[in-house]
Amino acid sequence: MLKKRILVTGGAGFVGSHLCEKLLNNGHEVISVDNYFTGAKQNIAHLLENPYFENIRHDVGFPYYAEVDEIYNLACPASPVHYQFDAIQTIKTSVVGAINMLGLAKRVKAKILQASTSEVYGDPAVHPQTESYWGNVNPIGIRSCYDEGKRCAETLFMDYHRMNGVKTKIIRIFNTYGPRMHPNDGRVVSNFIIQALKNEDLTIFGEGTQTRSFQYVDDLIEGMVRMMNTDDTVIGPVNIGNPNEFTMLELARKVIELTGSSSKITFRPLPMDDPKQRKPDISRAKSLLDWEPNVQLEEGLKKTIEYFEKIIL
Ligand code: NAD
Ligand code: UDP
Repeated sequence: MLKKRILVTGGAGFVGSHLCEKLLNNGHEVISVDNYFTGAKQNIAHLLENPYFENIRHDVGFPYYAEVDEIYNLACPASPVHYQFDAIQTIKTSVVGAINMLGLAKRVKAKILQASTSEVYGDPAVHPQTESYWGNVNPIGIRSCYDEGKRCAETLFMDYHRMNGVKTKIIRIFNTYGPRMHPNDGRVVSNFIIQALKNEDLTIFGEGTQTRSFQYVDDLIEGMVRMMNTDDTVIGPVNIGNPNEFTMLELARKVIELTGSSSKITFRPLPMDDPKQRKPDISRAKSLLDWEPNVQLEEGLKKTIEYFEKIIL
């Protein structure tokens, strides 16, 4: 197998750290570029001994240059709490970061993959979401810095491909969870697990009837790498997610059961523009990548609970 030099932006984050690990295990050289806004050195500490791993502190809002064969563009805070903390920085990271990384890909003739999101579908009027659905996104709400930033990045990926022949690829990632999620991330899976482990009430926003489809991180990484390895005619977008759909009430009950916690459930106001339902149609991923998720919710939750038990108890 050919050893490639691969750049991962956001490499010290939750998903990025798993991706760096997988690419190193596959025998490649990996450069992680991260400004540690939501990522952490602990996530990649175990990789630092590897002579084929390089760790660079850098903000993708500024140009970066390195001779690489492939770029995975993941740099961007992903949880609503984090991306709304500095909304302007979030949209700059998505848009200017994409321009800088696409410029690099063009210059060094690298393949580049964008970690886009199911958020491009907004509060979807089509269910499940197929890639041909254009979405229902509020352009001026509190989630817009992330949703519109990611939509604009997709536009840039398509235009660099059409205008400059850059080898671009887009995946739309649906809610992903697993070890190395930031404990204060604010996303639902980490919140519920931490609350349950501390025997505190689980906070459901709204009535808990909204749905999400949760994917375990290992499945995502497999899908990402398969997408990068497709031939240059495969641009995407391709949904990568687990189509098993749950309400937040179902998730809360499952977490309480699996942790054996004495926690109760409490209800809080639903944040603005919170999507009511979300579930990927993964037909395209199945046919183009021969991919589908293997880890179902209970198994993935058990592994994630084990991780949080170690770090918080
Ligand atoms: P994360 O917050 O753990 O990781 C993001 C990483 O990007 C962090 O290490 C952070 O420090 C880094 N970063 C942020 N701004 C940066 C900047 N300006 N320059 C350099 N680095 C910067 O989130 P994650 O869940 O690992 O998400 C990774 C990617 O996947 C993101 O692009 C996200 O939008 C996308 N995604 C994730 C999910 C999910 O459910 N986890 C769903 C859809 C899309
Ligand atoms: N949510 C919740 N309690 C929490 C955190 C989130 O009920 O403590 C809800 C949130 O309102 C949303 C769903 O869980 O409906 C998923 O939220 P998350 O932030 O994980 O991801 P996203 O909304 O971006 O899909």
